[in-house]
Amino acid sequence: MANIASCLCGKIVFKVEAFLPAVAHCHCSMCRKFHGAAFSTFAEVSNDKLLFVQGKPYLQSYVADNNTVRKFCKCCGSSLIFESTYNRADNTIEVALAAFDQLEAIKPTAHIYVANKAAWFEITDKVPQFKNFRE
Ligand SMILES: [Zn+2]
Ligand SMILES: [Zn+2]
Repeated sequence: MANIASCLCGKIVFKVEAFLPAVAHCHCSMCRKFHGAAFSTFAEVSNDKLLFVQGKPYLQSYVADNNTVRKFCKCCGSSLIFESTYNRADNTIEVALAAFDQLEAIKPTAHIYVANKAAWFEITDKVPQFKNFRE
């Protein structure tokens, strides 16, 4: 099955040919604010497995103080891509699972940055939790 993602307004469409095993719910405060949600869910992908179908010029980057880069649609604001220094060293990128319209069976395997979790959200599943980054 093709893994196809798009932003809310539909201008940006990309596909992922293959996911890497790391898929996590991130509870850090930056993800919370950027997504406007209790947490984000990102999957890791090799740079060469992420292909833009359309709208790449609409992709806007926000570079945070800690040198992480968050990419979003400049028309509708959808959060699509995350990149840390770790990703850059590894030639990988993280894609927001919530943006996918079609997605193969994929399961998050960790809750990360649980130390920063929103007090108003309770984790009730059995997925392993990590205080900070997954070791
Ligand atoms: Zn958009
Ligand atoms: Zn985060």
